[in-house]
Amino acid sequence: MRIILSTLSIFVILSNAFAQTPTDHVKSVQEDPRVKAAFDHIDKDRDAILREWIAITEINAPSKQEQERAKYIESLLRKSKLDIRYDSAGNLIATRKGTGGGPVTVFDAHMDTVFQPGLKIKATVRDGRVYAPGIGDDTRNIEALLSTIRALDAAKIKTKGDLVFLFTTDEEAGMTGAKQYTKDNKGKVDYYIALDGGYEGFTYAGIGINWYRHHFIGPGGHTRSRTPPYSATLPLARAIARIYELKVPTNPSSNLNIGMLGGSEVVNAKASDAWFTVDLRSTNNDVIADLEQKIAAILDEEAKRAGVTVKTDVISASPAAVLPGNRESNLVKIAEAVHRAMGFDPPIGNAGSNNSSAALLQGITSISTGAGPCSDSHALTENCEIEPLYRGIKKMLLLEVALAGLDQ
Ligand SMILES: [Zn+2]
Repeated sequence: MRIILSTLSIFVILSNAFAQTPTDHVKSVQEDPRVKAAFDHIDKDRDAILREWIAITEINAPSKQEQERAKYIESLLRKSKLDIRYDSAGNLIATRKGTGGGPVTVFDAHMDTVFQPGLKIKATVRDGRVYAPGIGDDTRNIEALLSTIRALDAAKIKTKGDLVFLFTTDEEAGMTGAKQYTKDNKGKVDYYIALDGGYEGFTYAGIGINWYRHHFIGPGGHTRSRTPPYSATLPLARAIARIYELKVPTNPSSNLNIGMLGGSEVVNAKASDAWFTVDLRSTNNDVIADLEQKIAAILDEEAKRAGVTVKTDVISASPAAVLPGNRESNLVKIAEAVHRAMGFDPPIGNAGSNNSSAALLQGITSISTGAGPCSDSHALTENCEIEPLYRGIKKMLLLEVALAGLDQ
């Protein structure tokens, strides 16, 4: 027993002595001739990448109506040796099997767009940019994954761990695709990388987002009716002014916005229902709870002062997703080294708001990043720079191989 233990401790000491730092590990992967060949393939594939990126974008895929786009992506995936299936949420899942002994690494890009059903999309290219609704969010990342698969195949790269390419549904309307996948695969996934937005860096936590509509309800009445009671707009105005006096912390990263409001439908009536929205965000759920409580107190005080009542509707609520230890995880360390190796520095941001949250809430180690710089997300004028995407694709390929492990 003693001999076995000491042999084991020598092994541990030796393996620690030879353990590579994440930077060394990524460097050795990057300098492997097969990875260099894969990078060369991406350079040679540029025109095809742009064409395919546009072709996918031109199939509009509103949330919950992703099937046509999914079928097209599936037809492209069928050209490679992958296990392809759909799950109950309509997610398209393509697994590139590893040779064994490596982590299961999932790369997610969402298929859905925010644009109305039936919208005809036609991309245009000018001044080094490509313009089309949905070109960036999230089609650039779908295309990044497809082109890394082709490059891995062309360079005959085998990884130890499975690479799972996950094309999710319904990210924009509630992340139901990612929620289903992470629930179904909890305990089977080692790393989950949500590709959504992003280019130069990555995030390792999900921001919590709560949306409310607060109403002040009063008796209303004609402009010339006896005052008080006042129009319900009076407590609304007072409450908004006071809410903006609240201290919103920057650390943990938090935001508060009052973006919409309404009152009477006509000029010559007191509002019987005056309402406004609050968009409350933080990486810390305690901050959200604290601000929610302070806002409720203000609303009650102002309602009482004006002799009206308050009603609050929660439009939507998704909690902050922070996984203890995630910042120090192997995934974050490797991702940091990959970004630096590709010339992105400093790469680490705090929190995003995307499918990564679904994974973190299931306790799965996760980050979020993306493959290229784009602007005007969710607008008809959405556009992306073309040239940087190729570098972003190489970054993605390096991340895939560095995480899943290069088979010797
Ligand atoms: Zn998105």
